[in-house]
Amino acid sequence: MSTYFRPRVCAVFSALLFTVFISSAVVAQQATAIQAGAMLDVVSGELTPNVVVVVRNGRIESIGPNVSIPSEARVIDLSEYVILPGLIDAHTHLTIQPDYSRNNPILYKSIPYRTIEGVAGARSTLLAGFTTVRDVDSEGADWADVALRDAINDGLIPGPRMQVATLAISITGGYMNNDGLAPQIDVPQFGSLADSPAEIVRTLRNQIKYGADWIKLYATGTTRHIDIDNMEPLAQFSDDDIRLVMREAARFRTPVAAHAYGGQAAYVAVDAGVRSIEHGMMLNDETLDLMVERGTFWVPTLSVYYQDGPRSEWSERALAITNSHKRVFARAVEKGVKIAYGTDAGALPHGDNAIDFQVMVSYGMSPLSAIQSATINGAELMGLDDDLGALEQGKIADIIAVSGNPLEDITQLSDVRFVMKDGRVYKLDE
Ligand SMILES: [Zn+2]
Repeated sequence: MSTYFRPRVCAVFSALLFTVFISSAVVAQQATAIQAGAMLDVVSGELTPNVVVVVRNGRIESIGPNVSIPSEARVIDLSEYVILPGLIDAHTHLTIQPDYSRNNPILYKSIPYRTIEGVAGARSTLLAGFTTVRDVDSEGADWADVALRDAINDGLIPGPRMQVATLAISITGGYMNNDGLAPQIDVPQFGSLADSPAEIVRTLRNQIKYGADWIKLYATGTTRHIDIDNMEPLAQFSDDDIRLVMREAARFRTPVAAHAYGGQAAYVAVDAGVRSIEHGMMLNDETLDLMVERGTFWVPTLSVYYQDGPRSEWSERALAITNSHKRVFARAVEKGVKIAYGTDAGALPHGDNAIDFQVMVSYGMSPLSAIQSATINGAELMGLDDDLGALEQGKIADIIAVSGNPLEDITQLSDVRFVMKDGRVYKLDE
């Protein structure tokens, strides 16, 4: 008889424990109150002095100059600082490090080691004030980006909230397949190479199966795949293949990010419905106009293509690309293309993600628009704008602080002094 009853007793006891756990989680989270010297409203550009933010259960419970601090709250004194929303980098590669072009990680690093590098990169990114990233291609580290995303969500490691693209789709002989090795040497590749409709469909479905939030398509090649006579980036896929990627991704309600420097492939990608164009250094007016019409985001990744050495050292191609990037950026700003901040971190050190703000402003964008690209625009691109991108009541408490007004000095964003993500403090310099 006792064996018969034991499971029921256990079930009742578990139910009781479960109830206690749930009620304690819902009822009793202590509030945190931030006393900020000023708050930058990234929507209006207004700087409001002496703001209090009350955070509870990971969200902003109340915010403003006349908010009272609950008596039980833990108080964080940021009276010397300006607060703004956690920043969003919409183009990272946490499993790539800046030495990858000289020290091919596929040949010299195990995927477990690259994953651990990703853990370190995720921490640096978060502590630099970037509380959310879109990681667009693990570049030969297989599903390490999915593991990082899930480990961060599970609280195992500190890092930004991630959306990931896993393998990315390219072609034989194209981007991510220029290994320079003899034909008899077969090595794993940086991307997933697909040369037929069947291969495209198969890799796309496989990526979704194993956790991709985004599909990344290499619609054009590298800087080597540009017709230097007319600066036309060469398409990697047929128009039909680009449209096939879109149709197949739409079946799974998965957005597509297209690496596209410009030309026909960029136009077709926008027309087919990609959510973002990456890099786009040679986008023409026709494509920029279509992007405005369709609401397609541009993630320009300026600094990674920005040649800042003495001009005599620049190659003709690099100079032409950088100059075109600058021109296209000014045109896109003028036309009102939605620009989301993205750096290609991985080619740059993780944690240096704020560097593109300076290039954007030097290319003529207002500091407020640059900050909006990394807050409200990034959140909209990632479908997170109900929860992130601005400091408002009810939104997730991703809050950072800097020493001065970044609208007056954009380099303030390279020295973030306080980082809160999901209501939890990860950095507090006093
Ligand atoms: Zn990239």
